[in-house]
Amino acid sequence: MKLLIVGSVGMDSIRTPFGSVRDALGGSAVYASVAASRFSMPAIVGVVGEDFPQRHVRMLERRGIDVSGLQRVPGKTFRWKGRYLFDLNTAHTLATHLNVLRDFNPQLSEPHRGIKDVFLANIDPELQYAVYRQLRAPSIVCADTMNYWITGKRAALKKLLKVVDVLLINEGEARQLAGVPNVVRAARLIRKLGPRVVVVKRGEYGALCFSDGDVFAAPTYPLESVFDPTGAGDSFAGGFCGYIARCGRITPGIIRQAIVFGAVMGSFCVERFSIQRTAAVTWRDICRRYGELHRLVRFEHIHEGRV
Ligand code: AMP
Repeated sequence: MKLLIVGSVGMDSIRTPFGSVRDALGGSAVYASVAASRFSMPAIVGVVGEDFPQRHVRMLERRGIDVSGLQRVPGKTFRWKGRYLFDLNTAHTLATHLNVLRDFNPQLSEPHRGIKDVFLANIDPELQYAVYRQLRAPSIVCADTMNYWITGKRAALKKLLKVVDVLLINEGEARQLAGVPNVVRAARLIRKLGPRVVVVKRGEYGALCFSDGDVFAAPTYPLESVFDPTGAGDSFAGGFCGYIARCGRITPGIIRQAIVFGAVMGSFCVERFSIQRTAAVTWRDICRRYGELHRLVRFEHIHEGRV
């Protein structure tokens, strides 16, 4: 049931065609742990600076998230500034200020070293690997990354991928990592680097999952208004990893359900800025959307010659 999540904890300044926000709570570990907290018991490993409001820490605690691995150090918190044009699938990074993340040296506590299920959310792959190395006997290791690290830290990322079971990655970043334009081929090449399961997130077009002998496609929940897509990928990953941690094992059926839970959590995230909507959803809301996605893709078999 426990899920260790390492990633960025930060403050985002975002502009979309529908509004803007300054210094909103963000970061890959925040989005992922809030989404995962509906399924399992997440423990965050991360760092913030002196300027990080304590009310955000209390909000995470109220969701049952273990924040004992969240360090506060002198300096400024990680900040990301981005904007979206009418194509909400593409985030345009305007500024990345690593600040205290630059010198972060994660040290896991004894209880955290014993957690079996891990999500290495988007952060420097060297830090992801440093956390992995401190685990006593990890069972399921999931990871995410982004273009910033694929170009900036490719060797470190490749080293990490050797120990990863499930990689969750955006479509464009899968192409970039594999160096080929075709997503199916890119996923096959990425699997050769280590992960036995590759989940390709395709924004409003859904997700594709490649594993041994199985390909699964899940749609994105059809929403009429998407307000801010920031954090959708991390919320997807939080739903996915949270459900896997709840099950404690990976089977083809569990992976498919986990992907649909991921799609559901991503769909809540984009309805408001920051974690406002995701933090408020009930288990009933989640189950309703899960059921709607099930109905959306269900179709009958045909028997040859009898259409
Ligand atoms: P996504 O789910 O892909 O939309 O992720 C959005 C989150 O990623 C934002 O809350 C940012 O704070 C965070 N982020 C952006 N750039 C980086 C980076 N280089 N390393 C870690 N986290 C990042």
